[in-house]
Amino acid sequence: FLQSMPKSETIKLREKHVGSACQLFFRSSPLKIVRGIAQFMYDETGERYLDCINNVAHVGHCHPHVVEAGRNQMSLISTNNRYLHDELVILAKRLVKTMPESLSVCFFVNSGSEANDLALRLARVHTNKKDMITLDHAYHGHLTSMIDLSPYKLNLPGGPEKPEWVHVAPVPDVYRGKYTYPRDSQSEEELGNLYAREVGEICKKVKEAKGGVCAFIAESLQSCGGQIIPPDGYLKKVYEYVREANGVCIADEVQVGFGRSGTHMWAFQTQDVVPDIVTMGKPMGNGHPVAAVITTPEIAKSFADTGVEYFNTYGGNPVSCAIANAVLDVIEEERLMERAARVGNHLLSRCESLKHKHRLVGDVRGRGLFVGVELVTDKESRIPATAEAKHVVNRMREERILISRDGPDSNVLKFKPPMVFTTQDADRLVDTLDRVLSELEENTKSVQMKLEVLVSPIREDVGSGDLQLKSSIQQYVKAV
Ligand code: PMP
Repeated sequence: FLQSMPKSETIKLREKHVGSACQLFFRSSPLKIVRGIAQFMYDETGERYLDCINNVAHVGHCHPHVVEAGRNQMSLISTNNRYLHDELVILAKRLVKTMPESLSVCFFVNSGSEANDLALRLARVHTNKKDMITLDHAYHGHLTSMIDLSPYKLNLPGGPEKPEWVHVAPVPDVYRGKYTYPRDSQSEEELGNLYAREVGEICKKVKEAKGGVCAFIAESLQSCGGQIIPPDGYLKKVYEYVREANGVCIADEVQVGFGRSGTHMWAFQTQDVVPDIVTMGKPMGNGHPVAAVITTPEIAKSFADTGVEYFNTYGGNPVSCAIANAVLDVIEEERLMERAARVGNHLLSRCESLKHKHRLVGDVRGRGLFVGVELVTDKESRIPATAEAKHVVNRMREERILISRDGPDSNVLKFKPPMVFTTQDADRLVDTLDRVLSELEENTKSVQMKLEVLVSPIREDVGSGDLQLKSSIQQYVKAV
C-alpha cells in the first residue's frame, strides 16, 4: 500500500501542526493505517490487524455497497436539506420503522455530539426546565453542552467544573459500582431498584426545588463507563421517576445502536423501555459523518412552535442519507444483527472460560458484539488492574490484534468489533488473550517484571518526546 510519506515524516508533521490534545493510540509507537477491509486494517507496510475496536465500521471497513452508494450520490448532487430528496425521506421512514410507534420524527445531523446537543435543545424547549440527570463516567460528546453532561471528562483533573444544573447518578455497575452483586443483593431486580432509586432521589429533590427536571440522558448499555450492562428493570424504574418529575428520557444509541446487542436494533429495547428522544451516530454512516435524532411528534411540535428554524448545512445531505440507507441495506441483507448474537454469544462464553483460568480476570460481561473483560489484581477486593490492562492492550497489538480499554480505572478490556466479525476471529482474539494473560501472570511473579508492567503506562504517557525521562525510568526499574 503506497503512502507518499515515510512514517517518521507523518509523525513529525502531526506533532508540528496538529493539536497535541488529539491523542494517538499507542503514543510511543503509533500505527499508520492506510487501508481497511471488513474486520481488518492494514498499515503502510501491508501488515494486517484484526480490528476489535471499531464500532463505527459497523458493516465492515469500506463495505463495497456503502462505498458505491456514497460515490454514486457524490457524483449526482450533494446539497442541503432545504430541497426535497428521496434518500432523506426514505432514510427517515426506514429508521422510524425500527422504532416504537411513538417515535416518528427525525432530524439529521453530522455527529453523535450534535445529535445529543439537539436532543438537549428539544428537551429544554418541551419541558421548559433546565436540570439534567446523567450517569457517572458517561460520555455524550465533545461540544461544550455535552462536556457538561459527560462525567467521563468532567472528572479529569484539568476538566471543567460540573454546572449546578447537572446531576450525576451512579452508574449501574453491579461488579465495582456503588451497589454490587452479591455484597448488596443477590437479586438483579433489587440491584436495579437500588440504582434506580438514586435517580428517583435526584428527581424528588429537583422537583421540590424547581418544579421538575428537564431530562435524563444515558446509554442503555454504557460503553464509556466500561461496558456496563444494567440490571434488568433498571431503566424502567428510572424512566418512571423521571416522568413523575415532568422530565423526558433521552437514549444515547451513538455507540450501542444498529443491532450491536444482537437481540434488538436499539439498546434501550433490551431494557424494555420507550424513550422520548433517541440519538444515533457512529455506525450509521460506517465511517461517513452522519447522525440523527428521533423523537415524538409532540416534542418536535414544541420545537417548531418556537418559530425558530432548525437549519443544519450538512445534516441530511443526499450523500450522507444514501450512505446511511446503504448501511441499513447491509445490516438487513447480511443479517448482521443475528450474526452479532451468534458470534457475540460465542465470544462471551469463551471469555467466561478465561475468568476461571486467570487470576487477573475479575468479570466478563456483554451483549452481542459488545463485550467487556474487567481485569483486577485481586478477585476478592476487586482492585482494578490498570497497568496490567495497558500491558495487555500493547501486547495484543504486537500480536496484530487491536483492542482498547475503558472504565473509570481504564482496566476493562473492550471488544466492539465491526459486525462482520466471525467465530474464528473471536477464537483468535480469545486464544491470544489467553496466552498474553498467562505470560503476564507468569512474568509478574518476578519483582522486576511487576515493576516493568507498573511503569510502562508512565513510559507510554511520556510518549516519544522525552527520551531523558524514559531512560531515567528504565534505569530506575533496573536499579530496583
Ligand atoms: N455519545 C456516545 C455514547 C459516544 O460514545 C460518543 C463518541 N464516542 C458520542 C456521543 C459523540 O459522538 P461524536 O464523536 O460522533 O460526536
